[in-house]
Amino acid sequence: MCGTMKAIVKKESAYGAVLTDMPIPEINDHEVMIRVKATSICGTDVHIYNWDDWAKGRIKAPYIFGHEFTGEIVKVGKQVTRAKIGDYVSAETHIVCNQCNMCLTGQQHLCQDTNILGVDMDGCFAEFVKVPEQNVWQNPSDMPVELASIQEPLGNAVHTVLHTPVSGKSVAIFGCGPIGLMAIAVAKSAGAVQVFAIDKNEYRLELAQKMGANHIVDIGKEDPVVKIRQLTRLEGADVICEMSGHPAAINQALEACTNGGKVNILSLPERPVTIDITNQIVFRGLTVQGITGRKMFETWRQVSDLLRTKTIDVQPVVTHTLPFEDFKEGFELMRKGTCGKVVLVMPSYQRGKK
Ligand SMILES: [Zn+2]
Ligand SMILES: [Zn+2]
Repeated sequence: MCGTMKAIVKKESAYGAVLTDMPIPEINDHEVMIRVKATSICGTDVHIYNWDDWAKGRIKAPYIFGHEFTGEIVKVGKQVTRAKIGDYVSAETHIVCNQCNMCLTGQQHLCQDTNILGVDMDGCFAEFVKVPEQNVWQNPSDMPVELASIQEPLGNAVHTVLHTPVSGKSVAIFGCGPIGLMAIAVAKSAGAVQVFAIDKNEYRLELAQKMGANHIVDIGKEDPVVKIRQLTRLEGADVICEMSGHPAAINQALEACTNGGKVNILSLPERPVTIDITNQIVFRGLTVQGITGRKMFETWRQVSDLLRTKTIDVQPVVTHTLPFEDFKEGFELMRKGTCGKVVLVMPSYQRGKK
C-alpha cells in the first residue's frame, strides 16, 4: 500500500493542528494496518493541541496525533497469526516491550519501556494507522463506531473504579470529564450504594446526573468535603476516584475520603501538587493508588462485556459526532468543556453503516 492519506498533524511546536496529506505508513511483519472509521478526542490530545508545558516536554512535532479509534484491518504483516483482513477492531494504545519485569509478570500496563500511540509515535487521526498485532482488540460486528472508538478511555474508567471493590460502598468521583462521567456508570453497575459527582462545569454536571450519579456537587457553589461527609455519617466516601488533576480538588478528594479508605488517582496534574502526607494520608490510613492505562487485557474484556451486555450505557457521554475534517470545532468544544466525548467520523464511513 503506498500513496498518501488525510491526517490531522501537529505540524509545528505551537498551538493548533492542520489537516494535511501524509504518507500511508509501512507495516512491519508483526503489525497490522487499520483503515480508521472513527476516532475520538482525548484530554491528552487537547494538551497536545494547546501545546502546554506537558506537550512541550514530551511531543516531537511534526507527527500525527490521536490514539482512540476503531476501524477495519486492511493489511497484515507476514508474522501476524490471529488478526485478519476485514476484522472490525479497536486497539490498546500502550505499546509495551514484552521484556521488562512488569511485562514478564503479567503487568504490561506498568511496562518500563512503554510507547504510547499518538504520543510517542504517529497516531490515529488519519485514514490509516498501524499497530502491533498484540494491541488489536476485536469488536462485535454490531457495536456502533462511536462506542467502539471510546473503549480505550472507558477502560481508564473501568480500571480506576474496579481497582478497589465498590460494592456496597460510597464512591466520590472528582472531575466529570468524559472518563469521570463513564466512571459513574461503572461504579453504579458494580454496586456502589451512592456515587458523588464533583465538578464546577454545569454542562458536565448535568451529564453526570444523566449517567446516574446520586449526588451532584458543584464546587463553585458548595464544599464537596462537607457535602460528602454529611451524606456518609460524617465519615467520608469509601472510595475516591481522582480525575480532575486540579491541586485544590486533589486536596479535597483526600479530605473527603473516610479513614482507611482508598484514593485511586487517574488524573495527571500539570505540576507537582502540595499535599499534607502526615495528616491527610498517614494518620488516616489512606491507600493512594496511581492508575495508568488499562490492564492487558483484563480491562478490555471488562469493557467489552459491560457494553455487549448493555450493563452500562455510555451513549449519553458521546455528545458530539462530527465529520473528521471538522476537528477544529471538536477541539474548541473540548477546550470550552461544553461537551462530553467528541467522536470524529471519517469521510469514507457513513453513519449508520458499520
Ligand atoms: Zn486517551
Ligand atoms: Zn515492558
